Amino acid sequence: MKKILFWTIGLLGLVNISYAVVPQGDCDGSGDVNIQDVLCTINIVLSGSSLGDADCDGSGNVNIQDVLCTINIVFNDSLSNSSKVPILTYHSWTRAGCTEETSNALGLAADLEVLHQNGYTIVPVYWISQWALGDRDGSTLPSKPVGITFDDGDNLDWVDSVSEDCPANALSFKTILENFKATHPNLPAYSPHTSSFVIASPIARDIIGGNTMSESWWHEAQSSSIMEIYNHSTDHDHNTIQGPITDPALSSLPSLFPDGVKIAASGYHSNNWIGQQNFQNVGNYNAAAAEIVAAANYIESKIRRIPRLICLPLRKSNTISC
Ligand SMILES: [Zn+2]
Repeated sequence: MKKILFWTIGLLGLVNISYAVVPQGDCDGSGDVNIQDVLCTINIVLSGSSLGDADCDGSGNVNIQDVLCTINIVFNDSLSNSSKVPILTYHSWTRAGCTEETSNALGLAADLEVLHQNGYTIVPVYWISQWALGDRDGSTLPSKPVGITFDDGDNLDWVDSVSEDCPANALSFKTILENFKATHPNLPAYSPHTSSFVIASPIARDIIGGNTMSESWWHEAQSSSIMEIYNHSTDHDHNTIQGPITDPALSSLPSLFPDGVKIAASGYHSNNWIGQQNFQNVGNYNAAAAEIVAAANYIESKIRRIPRLICLPLRKSNTISC
C-alpha cells in the first residue's frame, strides 16, 4: 500500500511576524539579506578587504563579528518554529457577479496583491506541512509565508473561460497566478505556488460537476511551477451521488475492491450509499481505503507523482471548508 501523508489543514489566522531586514547585512547588494550575504561577508573577512555594506554591526571595520551579525539577520528573516502560518482556500467555481466579494477569481487577484504589499511570500503548501510536522526548520522559510489551496478541482483552476460581461471573471487561477508573477519579477523562483485538491473518481466528478471537472489538465498543472495536484478524496461524499455505483477506474486495490470502488464510498462503513456530505461517515478501514488510498493511487496514475497531501472535504471533519 502506498504511504500517504494524512494531513488536515487547520484554521490558521493571519498573524503578525516580525520582519527584520537590515540594509547593512546586504553584503552582496542583492536587495535582501540571505545566506549569500553570510558567504559574502566571510569572503571579505578572509580577503582582508573592506566593504561598507559588509560592516553589519557598524563598527567601522569588517571582521568575524560582522559574519555573526549577518547570520543573525538571516535567521531573523526566517519563520519562527513556534509561529502560525495562514493557509487561504479558494474555489474557482465561485464566480457570481463581478466583485472581489462574490467572485473567487477577482478575489484571488486582489488578495495576491494585498499579500505581496504586506510582505507575505506564497510558498508551497507542502513546505508548510513539512514544517508543521517538524520535518522542515523555519529558517528555510521566509518570515511571512502564506499557503494557497484550491478545491475541488474545477476546470477553472487551470483553463480560462469566456465572459463578455466581466472578462476578469473568465480568467483561470492559472492565468491569474501567471499575471501576478509577470508583474512582480522580483519574486523568488518558487513563488507564487499553489495546491489544487481534486476529486478522483471520474464517475463522481461527472455526477457532481458534469463536464466542469476534467482531469485533462492535472498533469500539465503538476508539471508547472505554479500549481501542484493533491487529493480531495474519491467522491467528496457528495449528496448528488445516489449509489452504490461502481467506478472501475479506481482499481488499484483489487483485494479490497475487485471491480473498482463503489460510491459514495462511505457506504463501506455505513451501508448507506447515498452521499451524506459528512466525512465522519468514512468510519472504518475499507471506507478510508476507498476514499483516500484508492483516490491517491488514481490521481498518481494521472500526474505521475504520489499526491502526499489530502484535504478532507467538508467542515464536519475539518476546521475549514474544502
Ligand atoms: Zn471540497
